[in-house]
Amino acid sequence: MFQINTNYQKLPGSYLFAAIGKKVREYSAAHPDRKVISLGIGDVTQPLAPAVIEALHKAVDEMGAAETFRGYAPDLGYDFLRDAIVKGDFASRGCGIQADEIFVSDGAKCDCGNIQELFAQESRVAVCDPVYPVYVDSNVMAGRTGTYDPETETWSNVIYMPCTEANQFVPELPREIPDLIYLCFPNNPTGSAITKAQLQEWVDYAVRVGAVILYDAAYEAYISEPDIPHSIYECEGARSCAIEFHSFSKNAGFTGLRLGYTVIPKELKWGDVSLHSMWARRHGTKYNGAPYIVQRAGEAVYSEAGRAQTMAQVAYYMENAKTIYHGLKEAGYPVYGGVNSPYVWLKIPSAMDSWEFFDFLLENANVVGTPGSGFGPSGEGYFRLTGFGTKENTREAVERIKKL
Ligand code: PLP
Repeated sequence: MFQINTNYQKLPGSYLFAAIGKKVREYSAAHPDRKVISLGIGDVTQPLAPAVIEALHKAVDEMGAAETFRGYAPDLGYDFLRDAIVKGDFASRGCGIQADEIFVSDGAKCDCGNIQELFAQESRVAVCDPVYPVYVDSNVMAGRTGTYDPETETWSNVIYMPCTEANQFVPELPREIPDLIYLCFPNNPTGSAITKAQLQEWVDYAVRVGAVILYDAAYEAYISEPDIPHSIYECEGARSCAIEFHSFSKNAGFTGLRLGYTVIPKELKWGDVSLHSMWARRHGTKYNGAPYIVQRAGEAVYSEAGRAQTMAQVAYYMENAKTIYHGLKEAGYPVYGGVNSPYVWLKIPSAMDSWEFFDFLLENANVVGTPGSGFGPSGEGYFRLTGFGTKENTREAVERIKKL
């Protein structure tokens, strides 16, 4: 009889957004006359930029002609895209990242989830709390997290680093020494950002204790303040201790198109073994490359027109985030994020827990958000709203909340 990977049995309940979707569907079915507005989504709503669409059309035409048709893409990505990434995201920031250190993929989620395969089973993992659930769940599936305590909603082998008002949602260095440290800035869900000096402390710490930082920069395009690093490689020493994940989802609306990339510098080594070579081997074995037409679309994001158009989309979502931030502040809620991030993290002022507040908002304002507790125990008492909706819906939702 076959055996299953029983680690999957350990995963608690349904995925957060499935649980929210179910509640909203049930509510809408019971109240078909009410217009429910979602500020809970992490998905974009604006159509792809014209420069991206133009590049897609051109690439599709190329695929239809024998002379320009492309089959399998190079495992690690086309040079035209890797070169554009280096020029657009790293060169001007003095990060010293080379094109052959970029691994193109179909998004940051799969890379964030798969990267743990490179590390030993007994590795100790540290995560921010609250956290993007993929980091923890992918380690659960790999059997790396120990046992789950439903009371505290924590895993025995995971080092949780609370991110609360007290530390402005930037974790402190952990007391127990981890092997792998997941950091995500600007942060999902809290919307907080980390200064270069703060991130440098993390890099110095990782070098000192021999840990690897897995740095998720999916929201880098939303940074508006000058002392916030766009890449961990802006910090000295990061090339020997950090892997960085990027996504085209939130900066250019590729959530449905799918494109991302991971950076593994060649200096990142375990003894003589290069993690770059390991990931190249893994990529070559398990992945056959992002589609040519999508990589051309990604290249277009770095063109002059593409940059201007995608930055305008980011500004649109940030305007929504501001509407939420200021509207809720006026309504008396303590609010965070929304400055370098499309996420606004609000403190629930009453005795309600975050699922109760979800129900309260849904029933009384017909607005959907995301309960903070869904991101980890320290998310309890908080609530996430996002700027990814339309301007009109965002304004209406905020007005409704203000009237409560
Ligand atoms: N990382 C974080 C922190 C995210 O919030 C998300 C998506 O919401 C991703 C990664 C996934 O990005 P992608 O769409 O490129 O898979």
